[in-house]
Amino acid sequence: MADEKAPVEKVRPALFRAEGTAADPNHPALLGGRCAACGFVCFPMQTYGCEACGSTAMEPYAISGRGRLSAFARVHVHAGGGREAPFTVGSIALDDGGVVRALIDRGSEDALTHDAAMVAVLVRESRPGRGEHDLRFALASKEA
Ligand SMILES: [Zn+2]
Repeated sequence: MADEKAPVEKVRPALFRAEGTAADPNHPALLGGRCAACGFVCFPMQTYGCEACGSTAMEPYAISGRGRLSAFARVHVHAGGGREAPFTVGSIALDDGGVVRALIDRGSEDALTHDAAMVAVLVRESRPGRGEHDLRFALASKEA
């Protein structure tokens, strides 16, 4: 009898790269998509179709790691097991288009303000099987 409960391989496509973009070479880029028909930017890259115009002509697009903090929340109790609370999650409206929800770098957590300028930074990944680095957003003013 075949094992119908065979484990499903988790797919974790690359969501960012250490190399920046021409517009912002000093911060990691997010690997999103852009609609060839209307220019709408999405993250992550997907091929289902453009959220703005419906075209399926989506192309990979490196999004600059700069934006503005539109909302943030401190998480004190986390139902998932993969991350130790407390931590802070923010919504960042990216300068290149799109909004991402991301973890906020520990060094920026206590000084967050609405509409603050944010930049993408890489931190060392401590969870096994997740690669060497993970992405965070930090206050641009806190950056060394
Ligand atoms: Zn479009």
